[in-house]
Amino acid sequence: MSDEILQQLRIVMVYPAHPGNIGAAARAVKNMGLSKLVLVSPNRFPSFEAYQRAASADDVLDRASVVETLQQALRGCIYVAGTSARSRTLDWQVNSPDVCAQKCLGATTEGEVAIVFGRERSGLTNKELEQCNSLVHIPTDTAYSSLNVAAAIQIMTYELRRTMLKNRAMPVVKSEPKYRDDLPASADQLDGLYQHLYATLTELRFFGSHHPEKLMRRIKSLFNRAATTQREVAIFRGICSAIQGRRTAAKK
Ligand code: SAH
Repeated sequence: MSDEILQQLRIVMVYPAHPGNIGAAARAVKNMGLSKLVLVSPNRFPSFEAYQRAASADDVLDRASVVETLQQALRGCIYVAGTSARSRTLDWQVNSPDVCAQKCLGATTEGEVAIVFGRERSGLTNKELEQCNSLVHIPTDTAYSSLNVAAAIQIMTYELRRTMLKNRAMPVVKSEPKYRDDLPASADQLDGLYQHLYATLTELRFFGSHHPEKLMRRIKSLFNRAATTQREVAIFRGICSAIQGRRTAAKK
């Protein structure tokens, strides 16, 4: 494995409020050999303060993409890890930083990968976490578990670099290709599937007394864990279309 694989990784900051954190994140990204920083609706960017904190990583800031939504930031990604200062009780798989780094690097053989960092004050919302395949929590003192966001980025990018170097020194036995004649589904393809499923289940009045959001979260959690492929997405969308077609025909 070469440093090349670190270029397949995106560091995504959701609604960063403080330009200094963006600058410090850019520096961490460059120090650890990554290059892609994506900013979702930053409060202030570009800014002098960000460039000041970035020091010689100004090129990372120059090339940073600025988008409006997390969905846009994740376009084309086939594996997404979300970071959390808390260990949540919901259905997400929570990994340690080293396991997360190994999973992310493993996924780079199939496509682009993102690690998502939340707002300084409130972290990531449940809706945003639903777009992640897994969560990572950096073990901190439970009495004060919340790291500064740029410090969390520094730790995770270090972990990615450390794991990349370890893998290079001791290559893991190459396993069977995961997808044979198929490709992993991207975050936006999965999103399309969720919308289609939601529309179909609504038409069927399936939600009834169930809380639609909670049920959809369960369904998303299943597809996120399953490393769903493009063909599998097409199959499920085909099923949805068939159900919708039947209902339309029955109404005529
Ligand atoms: N009060 C917020 C904390 C936000 S800290 C909350 O409880 O969620 C801002 C961001 O830094 C988090 O969204 C996450 O991306 C990162 N972060 C902070 N501490 C972390 C930890 N211990 N493990 C992983 N990420 C962490």
